[in-house]
Amino acid sequence: MKYSCDVIKDLLPLYYDKACSEQSKKIVEEHLEECASCRSLMKKLQDNTYENCLHDEKEDIIKNYTRSIKKKALFAGFIVVAVTLLTCFIANLATGNTLDWFFIVLTSLLVLAAITAVPMMAEKKKGLWTLGSFAASLFLLLLTCCLYSGGNWLLVATTAVLFGLSVVFLPFVIGQAPLKGFAKRNKGLLVMAVDTILFYLLIVSCGFYSKAAGYWRPALLISTVGALIAWALFAAIRYLKANGFIRAGICVIAVGAVTAFANDIISLILDGTYHLSVFQANLTLWSTNALINANVCLIVLLSSFVIGGLLLLAGFLRNGKSAR
Ligand SMILES: [Zn+2]
Repeated sequence: MKYSCDVIKDLLPLYYDKACSEQSKKIVEEHLEECASCRSLMKKLQDNTYENCLHDEKEDIIKNYTRSIKKKALFAGFIVVAVTLLTCFIANLATGNTLDWFFIVLTSLLVLAAITAVPMMAEKKKGLWTLGSFAASLFLLLLTCCLYSGGNWLLVATTAVLFGLSVVFLPFVIGQAPLKGFAKRNKGLLVMAVDTILFYLLIVSCGFYSKAAGYWRPALLISTVGALIAWALFAAIRYLKANGFIRAGICVIAVGAVTAFANDIISLILDGTYHLSVFQANLTLWSTNALINANVCLIVLLSSFVIGGLLLLAGFLRNGKSAR
């Protein structure tokens, strides 16, 4: 190579802009043929065209603008919250000579911040941060309300809120979690396991809260029947090796049957009476509650069999088609 890379690097911008002399042009081209590192530099120069720079700059401007708006919104929110807190602080002290309901206001504002400020502030995993801070602040709110009212319902309220949040949001949380191996392949199973544990925690905390005589046996039996049904449906949907129509058909029939017989199962557990209300149905008579109940059960049962049956038929037809 006649010229060093440093010389060529100095010439490259001029060469790219076609602003160098014929001789320099020749020198650069000869060098580029032999030198990979300068070739890649030239490639970079070509990629970094005017349009690209403009595009990058535009993105930067938008980003900065969004950031400044976010900052202003956060600042405005902070001022509103600070003024509210200060007012409540003074009012609470002035009227009660102590701080009690002030803490309820404080924790309520924390809940508000969790669903407004946290998603704005979180750079990554906004959903998880929002959900986490929402759950934590809600717990604090429940705690302060419970302490303020002198109630003993904190455990029931907390487990109920946790169970509700888990049923709705846990699939998304587990979906984002960096899991490996068995856990990664069985995320649904994990969700169901956690939900089941929270469900039983709720039932148990209700028992401790109500202290009602004869609570445990029927409560645990009914919960277990319910949980088993949920697990059976989950197993059919997730693990049954059949096409979607067949699985949907099974689920529709199962849910219809559960709905139709739920009352019978519960009365069997509660007072040992064994009867099937569907058999009392008479679609021409709607005069008593028992009749209405039986008629609705029958309609639900029949429609689930019809819809589920059609789905099963579609599934088997599809299987037959793909087998041929
Ligand atoms: Zn070079």
